[in-house]
Amino acid sequence: MRKVAITKDNIKKIVDYLDSLFPDAKTELVSENEFQFLIAIIMSAQTTDKQVNKANQEFFKVLKSPEDWLNLGQKKIENYIKSIGFYKSKAKNIYKTCEILSKEKLSDFDSVEKLQKLYWVGIKTAKVFLSVTKNTQVLAVDTHVHRVLNRLWFVKTKTPLQTDKEIQKVMIGDDLARLHHTLILFWRYHCTARNPKCNICKLNKICRYYKIEKLK
Ligand code: SF4
Repeated sequence: MRKVAITKDNIKKIVDYLDSLFPDAKTELVSENEFQFLIAIIMSAQTTDKQVNKANQEFFKVLKSPEDWLNLGQKKIENYIKSIGFYKSKAKNIYKTCEILSKEKLSDFDSVEKLQKLYWVGIKTAKVFLSVTKNTQVLAVDTHVHRVLNRLWFVKTKTPLQTDKEIQKVMIGDDLARLHHTLILFWRYHCTARNPKCNICKLNKICRYYKIEKLK
């Protein structure tokens, strides 16, 4: 892992550009309350938000609390989320998480560390939950955010976990909760894994990926 010295000027250029592309950026996962949002994030691992929303559109109308899911039972949860990747593991972990949340308030899980005590909730899921529901200044790093941050030379790392640690040293005093939303839309619709829109991207003059990969 090599230290990268992105300038504050370039950070501002990137953040401003992302803001201009996605002025109304917000989560695309649909939910009616914080509990449902947590369940939706757990379901969204290795699955698109669209698939999660499709699976939930009818069930979230009636499954609003941990007790509702517990009454359903693990087998029925499996059946209900069958269209989602890893549905058996997810059903088991959603059930276990609901068992905990039927005894303890979700609002008491107010830090990344505490949220990780729930099942299938890792650092990334915990940060998504906190930045969306509490506006906590944390940046959730998945493989896509890891890719974009490396392309733009915020960091030069090999894994999302390394990026998660390094980005905290680079982004100090920035609105990370806001950046979380704009970055997601940026990798989803603009700086895609394959065929990123480099030719129309206003960051191509400062983008490491564009300089090294596209011009070689
Ligand atoms: S120039 Fe290309 S790779 Fe770089 S940020 Fe823009 S779209 Fe992504």
